[in-house]
Amino acid sequence: MSRKETAVIECSHCGGSEEMEVWHAIVGADDPDLVVSLLRGEINRTKCTGCGKEIIADVALLYHDANLHFSALYFPFHQVAHPEFKKQFRADGTFAPEGISRDELPDSLSHPHMVFDMNELRRYITFRYSLLPAGKQGDERKEGNA
Ligand SMILES: [Zn+2]
Repeated sequence: MSRKETAVIECSHCGGSEEMEVWHAIVGADDPDLVVSLLRGEINRTKCTGCGKEIIADVALLYHDANLHFSALYFPFHQVAHPEFKKQFRADGTFAPEGISRDELPDSLSHPHMVFDMNELRRYITFRYSLLPAGKQGDERKEGNA
């Protein structure tokens, strides 16, 4: 299930803050409009009402498509050194978040395609959908080429 929260994010330009929707997980089949927004680069960002510049909520984001059996996981690279980050993985790179047993985690989720750049996340998802036979690709999924 797609998962979001409302959070107050500080503007790195003026020090003001904005309340905004922050997505942590997106399930492809749940909400096609949300996938469109993700591929357009509109997720987890908003305009600062103080200075007009862009505020980006730089948080981890998991994308999962259960039908196509793939997942992709974005992590802000500065979090990689954090012990809490490392606790979510085994030494072999398997994603094994605490509190979720191996049996509960579908194979497509235990080996997510890891990226450390949101644009790379969008490109990877676009690439995966581009492999679908013509006619099975939603028009919205072609938007990520920009
Ligand atoms: Zn600002």
